Amino acid sequence: MYVKKLVAQYTEMLDESPLDSIAQWKEKHPGSKVIGCYPVYTPVEIIHAAGMLPVGIIGAGNRLEIAHADSRFQSFVCSIVKSTLELGLIGKLSSVDGMVFHSICDPARNLGSVFKRNFPGMLIEYIHFPQNMASPHTVNYLTAEYERIKGSYEDLANRKITDEDLRRSIGLYNEQRVLLRELYRFRQEQPHNLSTVECYVLTRIGTLLPAEEHIAILKEAMKGLRERNEKPKDRIKVILEGSFCEQPPLELIDGLEAAGCYILDDDFLQGWRFFTTDIPVEGNPLRNLANAYLNLSVYAGVKHDTREHKSQHLLDKVKETGASAVLILAAKFCEPALFDYALYRRALEKEGIPHLYLEFEEKMWIFDKARTEVETFVESMLFD
Ligand code: SF4
Repeated sequence: MYVKKLVAQYTEMLDESPLDSIAQWKEKHPGSKVIGCYPVYTPVEIIHAAGMLPVGIIGAGNRLEIAHADSRFQSFVCSIVKSTLELGLIGKLSSVDGMVFHSICDPARNLGSVFKRNFPGMLIEYIHFPQNMASPHTVNYLTAEYERIKGSYEDLANRKITDEDLRRSIGLYNEQRVLLRELYRFRQEQPHNLSTVECYVLTRIGTLLPAEEHIAILKEAMKGLRERNEKPKDRIKVILEGSFCEQPPLELIDGLEAAGCYILDDDFLQGWRFFTTDIPVEGNPLRNLANAYLNLSVYAGVKHDTREHKSQHLLDKVKETGASAVLILAAKFCEPALFDYALYRRALEKEGIPHLYLEFEEKMWIFDKARTEVETFVESMLFD
């Protein structure tokens, strides 16, 4: 009951006014700053260690009319770039003191510059993640990049960030990520007791609320989930891949499962669940964060890691979870997702693992077509 109520409450918040929670936090913490984090991954610990609130600015869902941002971008870029800019242009980011973008793709790179030009009162940061993960110098490079960001946030927050501050923040976000991994493991083992929409909402609120609050919610939610005892339905088990940056509408996620799938794993909100294990707390904290990006993070469409084959990771995931198929759910015009699809498709076909490719946009309203495609796919597997 607790989880149902909680999910209903936060689904409404996510649908109607996700950014209101930022203004509420600022009211309770006068003088404190908020930093908006564009997907995919941000080292939020550095922001938190400065006494600021890191929040995910992850587009605007399907309730926002794009009236101004279209004129700043070509028609063939993904929705999240335009909706994020629109949020700024219509004043919805007025409680946000800074934004951070990353070198994930050309549209995100350009969005950082467009924000800098259009919002001179905001601190716009841009993290250049390494393009060569195999070089022995990469960890030094990324540590220096994090030092630069730290200096910038010290100026904004008007205080020094000590190593102890950073260690406390790393410990806190480790705890949050442990609980998120637990949530995901629970859904993988008992998908009939936790729907993907519920799993998504419980994760997404962690991108808006302070980590301390989210941890308390997750602990309570896990207690409630362990008491559930739903009957499994006759559905196929799938892995969902491709939605690591722009997020599909909740109605679409719901429709995928209702069409006959149990989603055992996905890459929604990937940057907030970015590590496979805890980041070490002892030692040089910025170096630990940099090293974690290089060596402890999940495979990702926006990480250029020549040391490994992404498609092999996907195949391993299918095998380890016991899934029988893969849904590729990619944002329209998302180049990194499209590049990955070429690799995934070849690997899945070679291994004889069925897959279905679907495209989405944030502003989608009609889900019948996607649902019918998934239903047909499921039937073809069930009655093969
Ligand atoms: S959805 Fe894809 S193309 Fe668009 S900003 Fe994100 S990674 Fe870049």
